[in-house]
Amino acid sequence: MNDTWSVPGYAEVDVLGTGGFGRVVLAKHEASGRMVAIKYLRAEFLADARIADGFRHEAWLLSGVRSPHVVRLFDFVETPQGAALVMEAVPGVSLRALLVAENVLEPEAALAILKGSLLGLADAHAVGVVHRDYKPGNVLVSREGESKLVDFGLATLDGHNGLTAGSPAYMAPEQWAGQPGVPATDVYAATCVFYQCVTGHRPFEADTSEQLRALHGGAPVPLDAVPEALRPLIGRGMAKDPAWRPATAGAFVTELEAVARKAYGKNWEKRGWKRLATSAAALTALTPLALLTTAGTAAAPVAAAGAGAGVSVGTGTGTTAVVAGKIAIAVAILGGLVAGGLVIFSPGDDPPAPPPPLTVALQTMSGRDQALPITYELQYPQVSGGPDAGVRQRLNDALRAPADKRLKSIRDGVSGNLERVKEQGETVAMHSSARVLAQTPGLLSVRYDHDLDSDVLGHTTWRFPEALSVDLATGRTLGPKDVFRPEILTPAGMRTLTQRLAPHTRNGFCTVPTVVGDPERQVSIDAAERSGGGDHVPAATFGFTDAGIEFEVLWYDLGCATAAGNETVVLPYAELGDLLQPKVLTMLGKPVSSASSSTAPKTSGQAGAGTTYTNSRFGFTTRVPAGYTASSWVPENGEGQRFTNAALGATMTVWGTNSPQPPAGKLAQLIAAEEGNGGRVTFKSADSSGYTVSGYQGDGKIFYEHEAVGAGSAAGLRWVYPAEHKKELDKPVDDTVKAFEPGDLSRPH
Ligand code: ADP
Ligand code: MG
Repeated sequence: MNDTWSVPGYAEVDVLGTGGFGRVVLAKHEASGRMVAIKYLRAEFLADARIADGFRHEAWLLSGVRSPHVVRLFDFVETPQGAALVMEAVPGVSLRALLVAENVLEPEAALAILKGSLLGLADAHAVGVVHRDYKPGNVLVSREGESKLVDFGLATLDGHNGLTAGSPAYMAPEQWAGQPGVPATDVYAATCVFYQCVTGHRPFEADTSEQLRALHGGAPVPLDAVPEALRPLIGRGMAKDPAWRPATAGAFVTELEAVARKAYGKNWEKRGWKRLATSAAALTALTPLALLTTAGTAAAPVAAAGAGAGVSVGTGTGTTAVVAGKIAIAVAILGGLVAGGLVIFSPGDDPPAPPPPLTVALQTMSGRDQALPITYELQYPQVSGGPDAGVRQRLNDALRAPADKRLKSIRDGVSGNLERVKEQGETVAMHSSARVLAQTPGLLSVRYDHDLDSDVLGHTTWRFPEALSVDLATGRTLGPKDVFRPEILTPAGMRTLTQRLAPHTRNGFCTVPTVVGDPERQVSIDAAERSGGGDHVPAATFGFTDAGIEFEVLWYDLGCATAAGNETVVLPYAELGDLLQPKVLTMLGKPVSSASSSTAPKTSGQAGAGTTYTNSRFGFTTRVPAGYTASSWVPENGEGQRFTNAALGATMTVWGTNSPQPPAGKLAQLIAAEEGNGGRVTFKSADSSGYTVSGYQGDGKIFYEHEAVGAGSAAGLRWVYPAEHKKELDKPVDDTVKAFEPGDLSRPH
């Protein structure tokens, strides 16, 4: 064992830093070209089972933190030769380097750093991780104007091995007293660093650690050097007794915002980040990280935008705007079908006023049970807007159900153990947080993490993840049968799924050496094998992210010898195409994979429900309602098909073309043509991915046209039908619009 081992598949580019536990390097993932930062645990530490266990444990925990304010962990690699964390590479410098260069930051910049740090800490606290070593060296300030926390949880290794516990300059009184770190300990350290940012020196300085302990433990914070407006904030965050500090990092953000706004106006944060971005950019230019292109760093964590969307620290309506805003970004990334069919079906005769768009926001409900010693804080998403109140109600019921169900089971557990709970004088605290994994026009996928704080009912660190996906068009919950093809929900199909998942796990299921000593152990994700019967469905909760299906594999469910472990395994869509129901791919706005698209222009499907037409050359797919006859229709430089229902006077035309035109320009031409013919356009929208337009033709018929445009080709559909048949056609038109799948537009066909 030595320190020359490196993670296979990555080429080292340069060293970024060397610290207490090992070196941090910038490296390139050879297969994808993605740049990452890799932190190696020094070989001498790996040899110490307790340290190695701690490193591993914190890596698992950190992998559960998805926060825009915390460096994202992509992977944890461990072999007999070494252990390493593979992380997102942040194009920036540490706050430590920034302070060396500038000594003092402007108050707005210092506040921005504090706010970003508190948000990151809150997201970590939400999954049970306390940083314990918050200091300038562990805050990265990116040249893009954001901060990210690094070096998480490694401080828990301290105390066992004689290394310094935390960083004395920022250590809270309780940490000096040897107590385990709590969230308020991180708040104290963050406030100390904030103090240093605005004054240029640490709050307490001394020659010996004994003196420093006494100062942190008993001396008043020297506030004279601090701008007056910021003094109360520092007083709160650096209260000696953790109970007097803000209850959570999130609550402190609320206090901070009020102070900052009052003292520096409503644009304080923007100004602060602008300053920081400029300074960070100048310093980054001098480091190996200057190599990173913005696109290069953004490429990897596209999913993070979606995944991070729901991570929110506040409660109630205060966070709504933020959450909705972030989700809108996720939609922009995932969006394929635009709001599509929704727009043309407003009630009444005058078509196309678009209904308010469907938005999602996280709600928090907290309280105390009237009859039992239970407190709870339940977070769940709720939707508003959208075209249909009934669907909205179904969606909201479904989205709340996991938190409610969990609370009910805790109530049952407490009732059944009331004697013991009372004997211990315990109030059981239940906590459930929710996070949006993905939102597309067709589907919403949410992950819930249930937490329980009770000595009687369970181990405090147990987390119960649960994912839920709903069909936004119907409000229905998507079960395994809706998601997987029937042949996958069989013993053989589950074996296929297990084989596909295995390479994406960190060490293979249940072959983590410290967990089970037997690497040959047969593993399977088939729930029927675990329970000795029942349906052949995945023994793991799963949800959709932008990158693939995220399975949360509980080691326990897979028969491991430990109950305390779970792992997030993401199976990319590229490997899922032949396993999933085509409808799911459509809902996700994902191209139909080659394995599932047909080889010849053909239609197929069940009687009554209509058929599906797939164009073999372009790969686009559309539903065709029952009762329509196909005829050929040829667009310029492409292929198409027309479907007509003579009785209703309705036609649907679909096409693919190798002459993609910029959507905005094509839309303008179309509108000019319709209006030139006496028509009227009542809805239009265009962005780089396509356009949608609807209204009345010159002959009075309703039309709806949508084209998805890529770099190499375009595919679209157009409906035309008489206004008097609007009622019976609303649904079939809506269905086809939503189900239309443009295929691979990145190349010509
Ligand atoms: P240590 O335990 O050695 O303190 P850190 O995780 O704090 O390890 O990393 C040390 C230094 O390496 C940081 O101060 C920072 O400059 C750099 N660094 C760490 N992680 C990253 C990252 N993900 N992206 C860019 N630089 C990083
Ligand atoms: Mg560090």
